[in-house]
Amino acid sequence: MSSVLIVEDEKHIADGLRYNLRAEGYDVDIASTAEQAATLLLDKRTAYDVVVLDVMLPGMDGFLFASKLRERGNFVPILMLTARGQAQDVLRGFEAGADDYLPKPFDLGVLLARIHALLRRREWLRKDRMPAATADGSNIVDLGNKTIDFDALELRSGEQTVHLTLMEAELLRYLINHDGRIVSRSAILEDVWGLREDTDTRAIDNFIVRLRKYIEDEPSRPRHLLTVRGVGYKFVSATAEAAAGDD
Ligand code: CA
Repeated sequence: MSSVLIVEDEKHIADGLRYNLRAEGYDVDIASTAEQAATLLLDKRTAYDVVVLDVMLPGMDGFLFASKLRERGNFVPILMLTARGQAQDVLRGFEAGADDYLPKPFDLGVLLARIHALLRRREWLRKDRMPAATADGSNIVDLGNKTIDFDALELRSGEQTVHLTLMEAELLRYLINHDGRIVSRSAILEDVWGLREDTDTRAIDNFIVRLRKYIEDEPSRPRHLLTVRGVGYKFVSATAEAAAGDD
């Protein structure tokens, strides 16, 4: 049985969610503050399969809590509940480490579907949702002295292993699938995040900075993840000298 932690201070929403999730066969706990949720997830190390996290909470908000979880090495999938029409909140949520979002007020059926999808998402990343990372069907991408393992959601470099969030992995996967081709920021927004609104696309740049720290030897002089000024980005798997883009 899958277990869900609902972090939501509005009692009627939390109770309604719990009722419906239980009806679907989930184990459900409720935390009315991020601090309570931190006690469960970080102190008691209670394992959940999905966390439904409201952004607006008394005390620590959902953004801060999500980053705190990731900093502490907890990578439970997070579905963030954001205010409708706040595309910036969505990107902020992803930057904090959320894996998906749903604007409030939400449709219950949609929320259940999203939770279900999140539970299967690792599998999607591995198999169905995108083509295999490499031509030979492997999910391991070799970047010379670094290896990205999309099955384990890990990036390995010598002795070091970095855990990628689903979002980081999906963006990286998307760029790798477009190896050698320029992708625009708006294409990334739409294809990776499902955002069609007129969003400030510069928010993507923060993700790119993070990915560069993972995959580049010298993040300030990228050789794989190139900026194409005024357009977007280009991933180049080959480690040849040529840096067609510029920064
Ligand atoms: Ca709230």
